Amino acid sequence: MTLTTIDLGGEAGKILAGLGVPAAVWQEGTLSVRSPVSGEKIGSVQEVGPDEAATAIEATHKAFLEWRLVPAPRRGELVRLLGEELRAAKDDLGRLVSIEAGKIVSEGLGEVQEMIDICDFAVGLSRQLYGLTIATERADHRMMETWHPLGVTGIISAFNFPVAVWSWNAALALVCGNSIVWKPSEKTPLTAIASQAIFEKALKRYIEAGNTAPANLSTLLIGGAPVGEALVDHPKVPLVSATGSTRMGRAVGPKLAARFARAILELGGNNAAIVTPTANLDLTLRGVAFAAMGTAGQRCTSLRRLFVHETVYDTLVPRLKKAYASVPVGSPLEAGTLVGPLIDEAAFNGMQKALAAAKQAGGTVTGGERLLAEEATSAFYVRPAIVEMPEQTGPVVEETFAPILYVIKYSDFDTALALNNAVPQGLSSSIFTNDMREAEAFVSARGSDCGIANVNIGPSGAEIGGAFGGEKETGGGRESGSDAWKGYMRRATNTVNYGSTLPLAQGVKFDI
Ligand code: NAD
Repeated sequence: MTLTTIDLGGEAGKILAGLGVPAAVWQEGTLSVRSPVSGEKIGSVQEVGPDEAATAIEATHKAFLEWRLVPAPRRGELVRLLGEELRAAKDDLGRLVSIEAGKIVSEGLGEVQEMIDICDFAVGLSRQLYGLTIATERADHRMMETWHPLGVTGIISAFNFPVAVWSWNAALALVCGNSIVWKPSEKTPLTAIASQAIFEKALKRYIEAGNTAPANLSTLLIGGAPVGEALVDHPKVPLVSATGSTRMGRAVGPKLAARFARAILELGGNNAAIVTPTANLDLTLRGVAFAAMGTAGQRCTSLRRLFVHETVYDTLVPRLKKAYASVPVGSPLEAGTLVGPLIDEAAFNGMQKALAAAKQAGGTVTGGERLLAEEATSAFYVRPAIVEMPEQTGPVVEETFAPILYVIKYSDFDTALALNNAVPQGLSSSIFTNDMREAEAFVSARGSDCGIANVNIGPSGAEIGGAFGGEKETGGGRESGSDAWKGYMRRATNTVNYGSTLPLAQGVKFDI
């Protein structure tokens, strides 16, 4: 095992040094950074105070006033270069994600690939950003809508996608003509510092190639909730895209609403899958195992509730239990590991609390115990847990950010569909079926009420081409692909009179 034998801090430092970040930035500061791989400290970074944050936001606002005037395809060129720099840094940044967030190697790399993909998407978008021309009732008039840059885009991100969430917002915001301020999770500042350094490299090349870009176009604010609050409260931030728990969204949402700022809220999920009598069980097994155990159950889209039809329950559930018992849990840096650590002790305690509550509610728990505690006393590895529940009660209706899969038997499709929707969260969902009527019903108006509804794939692992987000307590925001860019711009409706008379709308007469 390589839990405590690798010098994770040294490795993280080497990666940051390779990106041109001075050692003082990750070695001298008030905020300790721990790797969940070993549980040990790997660095310390400097937090900003609220006053410093406010000054930095003002400077980023000034940058917006210039950046909005740069033609969108030229803005896209900067994001194209960011994509190139991310390609060059993919291995290093992916490794740093694994060290700091505990993701297995392929998921660390996958996260950086997602950043590259959104850059590609945004570059194409920079030559679109189109409005409509709309039929007008008045002769010699034209009516159209135009999309304009909005202002400083605030980005608050969670520990579990420490860099991809930034890029989803940053790439779109930049081509839309906005400047950006990023408040990353206080649990993952090193990957944020690395991403900012990669951005600076792209910016340098952009300017060296003869383009102009203002100073402070992208600002990084390291710190905890108070720094996030400074961003949320600042009058010169017209949009905050905040990713994290529903608890955080409840604090942030009303504050933004009170000053009429826009919010893109990407909050907690409690994602389900329905396994029907006609499901391909081999495919289902893989789909369920990845969605429920991948990233140690620490994805917002992780599968947490499984409704299995009574005719396939006794075939599927024992196979699932076998997969749970044998899935390789260990250092995410080692080849072959599929389940890495929980982020910290609080996550472990939360998991144990949920399992105890499930037992109390009549559940039968398999797995869930702590592993590798002797090798790394401050790291928290667990055997993923399957909990067979008599009904959907207690902790099943809450999001516990850990690998717990609640399994419930059903006999009637409509009941399973109702259970899918009967939780406060509405992020992702899926159905495993070969019955076309069930599949279509699931994605129809009377089907899943989630922002993501999949057929024959699990609920986790979205592509950047689609708009990402969920309903109800998940917050209602959409980011990434499709037309999510519209959330980062302001829309103006323009009517142009190219005649020499002034007909009024709705036939109103006002002759003076
Ligand atoms: P968290 O809510 O503890 O923290 C998220 C971010 O919000 C951090 O940067 C934190 O500093 C900041 N924050 C917390 N309170 C704040 C406040 N009052 N004002 C301003 N900022 C504040 O979440 P976490 O533990 O880092 O991440 C896990 C949670 O995030 C889970 O609930 C998960 O489902 C959710 N998540 C959702 C999505 C999505 O797209 N829907 C994606 C990833 C994670």
